[in-house]
Amino acid sequence: FAPNLCAIDAKSTVSDTCASYATIDSLNDEIHPLLKSVTRDNDFFSYWRLNLYNKACPFWNDETSMCGNIACAVNTIDSEEDLPPVWRIEELSKLEGPRAHHPGRQQQKERPSERPLQGSLGDNVGESCVLEYDDECDERDYCVPEDEGASAKGDYVSLLDNPERFTGYAGQGSHQVWDAIYRENCFVKPSSSPSSQLSPLQGLQVQAANDFRNVLQREQPQPEPDDECLEKRVFYRVVSGMHASISTHLCWEYFNSTTNEWAPNVQCYKDRLHNHPERISNLYFNYALVSRAVAKLHNYLQKYKFCSFDPDQDLATKQKLLALTEKLHSRPQIFDENFMFQDEYAMDLKEDFRQRFRNVSRLMDCVGCDKCRLWGKLQVNGYGTALKVLFDYDENDEVDNPPLRRTELVALMNTYARISNSIAAVHSFREAVESGHEDR
Ligand code: FAD
Repeated sequence: FAPNLCAIDAKSTVSDTCASYATIDSLNDEIHPLLKSVTRDNDFFSYWRLNLYNKACPFWNDETSMCGNIACAVNTIDSEEDLPPVWRIEELSKLEGPRAHHPGRQQQKERPSERPLQGSLGDNVGESCVLEYDDECDERDYCVPEDEGASAKGDYVSLLDNPERFTGYAGQGSHQVWDAIYRENCFVKPSSSPSSQLSPLQGLQVQAANDFRNVLQREQPQPEPDDECLEKRVFYRVVSGMHASISTHLCWEYFNSTTNEWAPNVQCYKDRLHNHPERISNLYFNYALVSRAVAKLHNYLQKYKFCSFDPDQDLATKQKLLALTEKLHSRPQIFDENFMFQDEYAMDLKEDFRQRFRNVSRLMDCVGCDKCRLWGKLQVNGYGTALKVLFDYDENDEVDNPPLRRTELVALMNTYARISNSIAAVHSFREAVESGHEDR
């Protein structure tokens, strides 16, 4: 097992991070219990709102690749009473009061010093408490808003009741999605996009991405991954690291149909991860990247209002989050985003990077297993939020930062918890392999 991220890919600037596995393992030993508690012990972070069923795959007809296994199903919360108050539209609408409502993006930008603009939210109520829909798009977003093009305002899920684990979703359907993510949306290979099946808007977006890719290819004919620039490698590593984390979870909570039990499956780990060390390296890379994004939110979180209608729970949530960001700040920085988007093509490259990531987020609607789509959407949203915080967010500027929706903050922390869990699981799997105790 290679001891150092840099050793695995000497050309890569993860080498952009150069943190060793040992450094990250030891950080994770401290962070993992805290993150587990942050995402499990309160209502704010253990529920999520998304558009799970109402968006068709924009790239191909996916009706034949739907997963019918019971493990693919998601329990959504259909009745407002079954939601905790912090997620109830009715309760949040009350907070808005007769006149105070969320200032639109434009108003926030134009008159930041005059907030709140219409009415007052009261001492213990923050802007984050106000009912927000996800249909307002900010040009700095890396993901498409969940409500894009849909009239429904979303499905509510308890993340604890729908754990990410083995579902049996596999074969052509899942391969087509992974394939599309790697071939169509990564910078690695030139591709022929199935643009005839896209809507005009999506066609334009993909075309824009392809046009820019062509510009790059004219300058650098037939680029191979190793020769790609740093930003392209980072994009690939984020996607591959996310794939590695999903694989880890399905191996860690695998359904053994002989014993009818959920248990770790070491052979699954060996096949999907241990024998592909670069995938594990990308998982560690994502840990470093997301850790840095979360650390950048320290000041923001200090002022954040959680509004769960239970002040004790809110205080406990905030204390745990700040303990976490303080731990991250007390350690040497393990990822430096300032290396990226620095050359003369930086602005175009960044826009291309963002468009490609948005395409990955659209591809989640092509996942034919509800549970996988839920966690796929959550994690893509979490990485998109991390990228937005890394590249468009100034931790010392409170005015011009892009807005962070509640759903984005919840996705970010749960994605971080997923990677953290994967790192701990890989550690445990590795011990099983090295000690010869593979009978799990
Ligand atoms: P796959 O994992 O499908 O991989 C396809 C190909 O990609 C491999 O042959 C390999 O060439 C390459 N590859 C694999 N891993 C990496 C990597 N880390 N980096 C780079 N290349 C790689 N299944 C579940 O049981 N539970 C889930 O929660 C779940 N969530 C999913 C979420 C999404 C968004 C998608 C698209 C699929 C999900 N799946 C889930 C299905 C799962 O990811 C696999 O597709 C399935 O188990 C079949 O695995 P496979 O061995 O055929 O290879």
